Amino acid sequence: VGWLAGSGLALNNGIVVDRFCRSPSDPHCYAVGDVANADNAIYGRPLRLETWRNAERQAAAVAGFISGSRSEPFAELPWMWSDQYDLNLQVVGFPGEAEEEIWRGSPQDREFCVLGLRAGAVVAGTLVNQGRNRRPIEAMVESAAVIERSALGDASIPLKQLVRS
Ligand SMILES: Cc1cc2nc3c(=O)[nH]c(=O)nc-3n(C[C@H](O)[C@H](O)[C@H](O)COP(=O)(O)OP(=O)(O)OC[C@H]3O[C@@H](n4cnc5c(N)ncnc54)[C@H](O)[C@@H]3O)c2cc1C
Repeated sequence: VGWLAGSGLALNNGIVVDRFCRSPSDPHCYAVGDVANADNAIYGRPLRLETWRNAERQAAAVAGFISGSRSEPFAELPWMWSDQYDLNLQVVGFPGEAEEEIWRGSPQDREFCVLGLRAGAVVAGTLVNQGRNRRPIEAMVESAAVIERSALGDASIPLKQLVRS
């Protein structure tokens, strides 16, 4: 974003935008993807994410804002995936926000996940070859559910059974 210095657009760890991906400096300027430091309603603070889903969905959202087909702000739980050789890696939320970790499974099995908890609630999940647990973890994070730690750490209990509606 160096070329934007002096343009009048607010820059701070990327292009500063609001929940509609719009610059507070100029309502006709939008930013999406890696360059956008966007206010996120879920976290109540700006987030700049470098993931393809964020770039894709922010772009679609901005198309909706500009065309008038969308009025709700962009607010999504961060999620990314990557395949590294035989390992499928997925991260939901921000593991760095967790105060404690609960492991389900063992790295020796090359299939496990690590749940991040804050104030007892699941705030993040890191999955290795466990894509099936992505949606249950997303649901837990979105609901800020406080779930019994022993159940969370018991890999014999499917996570989807622990999701509360
Ligand atoms: C090595 C690598 C691995 C990654 N792996 C993953 C992954 O496993 N999972 C995941 O979710 N994400 C991954 N990412 C991140 C993901 O690729 C990015 O988040 C995503 O591509 C961002 O999309 P974007 O459109 O915001 O930016 P980009 O895809 O970077 O597109 C920006 C475009 O703007 C062009 N551009 C830049 N400056 C100018 C200029 N001044 N004038 C005109 N054009 C310009 C660039 O050439 C580029 O084509 C990875 C990134 C890298 C680099």
